Amino acid sequence: MAQQKRVLITGAAGFLGSHLCDRFIREGCHVIGIDNLITGELQNIEHLFKLENFEFYHHDVTKFIHISGELDYILHFASPASPIDYLKIPIQTLKVGAMGTHNCLGLAKAKNARMLVASTSEVYGDPQVHPQTEEYWGNVNPVGPRGVYDEAKRYMESITMAYHTFHKVDTRIVRIFNTYGPRMRLNDGRALPAFIGQVLRGENITVFGDGSQTRSFCFVDDLVEGIYRLLHSDYVMPVNIGNPDEISLLDFAKEIQQLSNGKSEIIFEPLPIDDPKQRQPDITKAKQLLGWEPKIDRKEGLQVTYNYFKNLPAEALYLQPKVFN
Ligand code: NAD
Repeated sequence: MAQQKRVLITGAAGFLGSHLCDRFIREGCHVIGIDNLITGELQNIEHLFKLENFEFYHHDVTKFIHISGELDYILHFASPASPIDYLKIPIQTLKVGAMGTHNCLGLAKAKNARMLVASTSEVYGDPQVHPQTEEYWGNVNPVGPRGVYDEAKRYMESITMAYHTFHKVDTRIVRIFNTYGPRMRLNDGRALPAFIGQVLRGENITVFGDGSQTRSFCFVDDLVEGIYRLLHSDYVMPVNIGNPDEISLLDFAKEIQQLSNGKSEIIFEPLPIDDPKQRQPDITKAKQLLGWEPKIDRKEGLQVTYNYFKNLPAEALYLQPKVFN
């Protein structure tokens, strides 16, 4: 019988990390989760605590990481991910991208484990190439408010390649585009949960700017499948995983409005600084290398997500954004 794989997932209590824990548990792996809960919630992984093949450590990955025994894979997903978080905790965001990644790479080297890092479409900044291929180097303002996240992720990619080249660590880099689904936080500042929260509370839907800026939303199950395939591939350069089905934020607001039978009005507010105007992944590489493409269309994914939030206790609709000290 093949030996059970041991997988370390950082950011395990977060939106994506918790879905990855579920997937690797389903695949029969032993999963070790680490999270300092700065933006994540234990509720996301509560159902796993009773399992023998799940362990959890409340730990900050910017500090030294010790794990007993062997590790086959490390998935580094710890990082504040939405502007509402990383604008309030810019230094932690830079540290987890830099020191957190460094610590994980050191662990991967010591354990001879394969490491996959969660990069982002934000490395393309406000892109001047559309759609974005992996070869595009990006248009990032390092000293703009979003620079703390974008540059942390660019550094993360760079140090990951350096460990691959100089220490022969087996690495993978996924560039994740906007992903949505159950366990997102309604108050994380991103358009999709913000719109859903607003309609569920019976409020107006707030669109920034004129709503012509575009986004492409990928359902979380599709993303997890893409990550799983990339991890098991032998490709070390970055790969975009996202859904190329692009929509303007105004049209998207209208779709959410329909979910609530049109009870909420759409209103407009000024565009925040450095808000990207358009985002759409070119997924040719993922298709060719991994045989991957998204399967769940927005209508289906939105309904699942809407139902998830609708079934949460009413208080959950009124939670304030996290307060950081
Ligand atoms: P999230 O905030 O839900 O999850 C991140 C988790 O990391 C949280 O549980 C948080 O507590 C934990 N964390 C942060 N700093 C830590 C530290 N120093 N030590 C230990 N744990 C720490 O965010 P998410 O949406 O699940 O994003 C997960 C990863 O995917 C991030 O690296 C993010 O940059 C990347 N990503 C996400 C998206 C998306 O659409 N959700 C898009 C691109 C990239």
